Amino acid sequence: MSVHPSDNPFTKAMTDKRQALVLFSGGQDSSTCLAWALERYEHVETIGFDYGQRHAVELQCRGLLRDGMKRINPHWSYKLGQDHLVDAKVIGDIGQTAMTSEAAIRIHANGLPNTFVPGRNLLFLTLAAAMAYRRGLQVLVTGVCETDYSGYPDCRDDAMKAQQVALSLGMDRSIVIETPLMWIDKAMTWHMCLALGGEPLVELIRDQSHSCYLGERHIAHAWGQGCGHCPACELRAKGWERFVMQAPISFGKKSPRY
Ligand code: ZN
Repeated sequence: MSVHPSDNPFTKAMTDKRQALVLFSGGQDSSTCLAWALERYEHVETIGFDYGQRHAVELQCRGLLRDGMKRINPHWSYKLGQDHLVDAKVIGDIGQTAMTSEAAIRIHANGLPNTFVPGRNLLFLTLAAAMAYRRGLQVLVTGVCETDYSGYPDCRDDAMKAQQVALSLGMDRSIVIETPLMWIDKAMTWHMCLALGGEPLVELIRDQSHSCYLGERHIAHAWGQGCGHCPACELRAKGWERFVMQAPISFGKKSPRY
């Protein structure tokens, strides 16, 4: 008989007593980070940012994902605390990019895609740290990744380390930034998801998380919903394809188990 990690007394004793705040957008990466944090920390809260992005649909997925994770694991249900939604529309007021306007997605001469919103991630982490300070939470968890999005300088490991120091000094309190996905690709992110919550978690994140830059939620693919041709959909499709080739089980169109 297999014992779930949360039921194992040794694993329970290993639970990190710190409390965490997960930057949770409703995408594949931040959903996996939420499950990772729920497995690891004693208490977990989530924060999302409304910055006038054209895929406001991503924010609507957040509630479905939180509810699904509570059903998947009773220990997670006990640990999952408040959700905070913060208005960050000021970022859209400052600069027009493909994420906040209807501009087409393209690459600038400096190699950065116009989906890059300057300073966005730095701002989000600062707002999250302010919320964590007020709530008495010690750890920020974010799904940034160098492997897939190296074009975004404020998602890189060095930027995260520098910001961790800046936030801890500026708030005179230890703020730790954890980045569980920093060095893994999209296929490995699915493997992590499978290890954390089994097939029900993979199916939940596949069906309810949202990655598409165009906010498309009405076209179903094997890897979830999306337009199928924007850079985020292409990345997600390729990651899923590699994952299902390597995974020990097959994911079909069965009825959801979450
Ligand atoms: Zn898309």
